[in-house]
Amino acid sequence: MEIRAPVLHAFNQPHRIEPIEVRPPRQGEVLVRMAASGVCHSCLHAAEGAWPWVPTPIILGDEGAGTIVEVGPGVADLKAGDGVILSWMPACGRCRYCAIGRPVLCVNRPPRGSLRDGDTCFRLGETKVYQYGTVASFSPYVVVPEECAIRLKPGVSLTAASLIGCSVMTGVGAVVNTARVPPGASLAVFGCGGVGLNAVQGGAISSAHPLIAVDVHDLKLEVAQSLGATHRLHATREDVPRRIREITGHGVDYAVVAVGDTRAAQQAWDSLGPGGTCVIVGLPAAGHTLQIDPATLVSPERRLIGSYYGSARPREDFARLTDLYLGGRLKIDQLITRTYEMEQVEEAFRDLAAGSLARGVIVF
Ligand SMILES: [Zn+2]
Ligand SMILES: [Zn+2]
Repeated sequence: MEIRAPVLHAFNQPHRIEPIEVRPPRQGEVLVRMAASGVCHSCLHAAEGAWPWVPTPIILGDEGAGTIVEVGPGVADLKAGDGVILSWMPACGRCRYCAIGRPVLCVNRPPRGSLRDGDTCFRLGETKVYQYGTVASFSPYVVVPEECAIRLKPGVSLTAASLIGCSVMTGVGAVVNTARVPPGASLAVFGCGGVGLNAVQGGAISSAHPLIAVDVHDLKLEVAQSLGATHRLHATREDVPRRIREITGHGVDYAVVAVGDTRAAQQAWDSLGPGGTCVIVGLPAAGHTLQIDPATLVSPERRLIGSYYGSARPREDFARLTDLYLGGRLKIDQLITRTYEMEQVEEAFRDLAAGSLARGVIVF
């Protein structure tokens, strides 16, 4: 079928809305009609060329929700009409890491920007157009592997559900799944964008205390407070590590770095107390490195760990997050500052870069 979708032809160039051919689903694939897509910072980074390995031309978008239109051969668990949340993490379900419940470490991934058979579902004339994060959620229609479409309970807003597939999962998961922050532990979240605000929510759900939000935008700090942060620190106006030691006594037990910025990671590391754990979530541009003096690691027994997609097990975690949302424990509607038409993707990126949003969402 022919659709119109925003295509990024090269880094640092505006999207062009173009006629795209979408092929039908093949073995183990499903065709999804998108209802809504979050506008994630990782897509902005990709568009700016921060990660040279991202192939072009490409359709961006890594979090979305929609409705199954058609299923390919061999798909047993999904049918046309099912509401689904998209997961940007295809996993084989059979390798060692899938078997031990860590599908983010799956070793049988499709090639970057492609489906399992190495092809993509999009053509612009004769040209193959890649699928960012497999799910290319800025497109009104997309074909994805069946394990990337997680059935949603009936009656849940697809606009709210669209954020569960990346920012909510990544942020809440970093705290709840990766770090496993216990009640009463102190937690500081560095960077309160889409992912960081959800890390704050993960802290609130886990009863972390104090729960400290750090950012350079007052608006985001205000939103963080409304989601449960007990303290807010402005990263450039205040000496953050010193303020955190004042608040906690010894330094923080857990620090989550939810921004792709090595200065924030350094501040987080310097804010840790003895025995503290620093969780890196945000990915800086290629080539940026962190310098850690081993003396600050060894005798205080600090830990530096990474969290990828909130250590997601999408089938289990999306259902759990949906239930927390339905139960009022996880706020999603409050995160959505503004909605856009698909044609306004450049405007959504500008607002995101300006820091004037908690989350922008494209509604189809
Ligand atoms: Zn994302
Ligand atoms: Zn696997």
